[in-house]
Amino acid sequence: MNIIFLGPPGAGKGTHAQKLMNELEIPQISTGDMLRQAIKAETELGILAKGFIDRGELVPDEVVIGIVKERLAQQDCQKGYILDGFPRTVPQAEALSQFAKIDCALNLSLADEVIIGRLSGRRVCLKCGATYHTSTLNGRTDCAACGDELVQRKDDTPETIQNRLTVYAAQTAPLIDYYQEKGMLRTVECTGTVEENHRAVRKALGVE
Ligand code: ADP
Ligand code: ZN
Repeated sequence: MNIIFLGPPGAGKGTHAQKLMNELEIPQISTGDMLRQAIKAETELGILAKGFIDRGELVPDEVVIGIVKERLAQQDCQKGYILDGFPRTVPQAEALSQFAKIDCALNLSLADEVIIGRLSGRRVCLKCGATYHTSTLNGRTDCAACGDELVQRKDDTPETIQNRLTVYAAQTAPLIDYYQEKGMLRTVECTGTVEENHRAVRKALGVE
């Protein structure tokens, strides 16, 4: 199954994509994780992407389209994949349709007020992409999954979060109608606990 995860920052795309990756044994392809790893490794891509990401803006379409196209051509994507954070604009969706056959776009939906609380307490592992919230970490500063140190993303500050929400509404939300019109959209309200939301995600995908 080739799945797209849509939804505002903080709706839980990464969390549910990681769980599904383990359950369905198909890779999670997170453009955000790929870009953050490139920044950490100071590659050419990372140097280019850093300013956009830190300001909460989108990295140019041709850049992300290139990295996704290359990634989907790899062997482990042949039996399916979860696209987490891509496409984020209509031109990205149109480019994707030229080199991929998508089965379903899952729209994870959540109110802005909830998003701000979630993102401002978020801590991430740059090595494996796991995410945590300060409210449940009990002061712990290492990743329970891989042991690497947890960090606060530079774009998880109140000001940048607001900008990301504005960018989401203007550039990414139109994809909801785009996939709706193609009959590919399924929506899940992510207001419950992680477990409740995950059950709803599985149900929407028909993998109960
Ligand atoms: P979140 O969903 O929490 O906003 P991501 O990790 O998906 O976080 O993305 C973080 C940042 O990486 C975005 O704000 C943007 O700058 C960049 N980015 C990720 N995916 C894309 C994409 N498909 N197109 C453009 N920029 C992207
Ligand atoms: Zn980790």
